[in-house]
Amino acid sequence: MVGDDSELIEAGTVIWTGGVTGNPVLSKSGFELTRGKVTVNGDLRAPGEEDIFILGDCAWVMNEAEGRPFPPTAQSAMQHADTCAKNIKAVMYGQPTEKFVFSDKGTVASLGITDGIGTAFSKNFSGKTAATLKKVVDNRYLFLLGGPKLFLKKRKDPSVLTIS
Ligand SMILES: Cc1cc2nc3c(=O)[nH]c(=O)nc-3n(C[C@H](O)[C@H](O)[C@H](O)COP(=O)(O)OP(=O)(O)OC[C@H]3O[C@@H](n4cnc5c(N)ncnc54)[C@H](O)[C@@H]3O)c2cc1C
Repeated sequence: MVGDDSELIEAGTVIWTGGVTGNPVLSKSGFELTRGKVTVNGDLRAPGEEDIFILGDCAWVMNEAEGRPFPPTAQSAMQHADTCAKNIKAVMYGQPTEKFVFSDKGTVASLGITDGIGTAFSKNFSGKTAATLKKVVDNRYLFLLGGPKLFLKKRKDPSVLTIS
């Protein structure tokens, strides 16, 4: 139903949208927010703060080449973590911090369980191939985040592409 006169447009398409925002703890802590996130410095520190780093979905990290922020993805969040770990060590030892540099490994999104779309290795993927690739990517993240224990507990079988 759209418009002031509630025009009915019949369709067989379901559209789901969901945003990714920062945690409410940011506003409660008094940070100035941009769409729920904190615009961080290049080294992922909160503006004006020596020892507060903000990462992942809570961070608004500008892509200076494109003049807009990097999308909030797991890929970004994990790369933030690497830079943050090095920068915490640098701050502890009084050394200069390094700037976050995003390394784009591609994007794969699942569309339901049996379908997907994405780009990786300079190629476009869709359908079951993309859905399978998404599960492989998810499994890789599980392994990187929690090692074999988390992988074995939560892994997704890439060969299973049907709703059971
Ligand atoms: C539906 C959906 C689909 C997505 N699909 C993709 C995708 O295909 N690919 C991709 O790269 N990204 C995807 N994302 C985005 C991705 O999930 C996030 O960008 C990523 O998880 C951000 O990591 P994070 O560590 O910042 O936050 P999170 O992964 O959300 O981790 C935050 C953690 O902090 C905990 N926490 C919250 N509040 C507190 C508190 N007060 N005290 C202690 N702990 C707390 C939470 O429980 C959670 O465990 C998707 C997101 C959504 C919602």
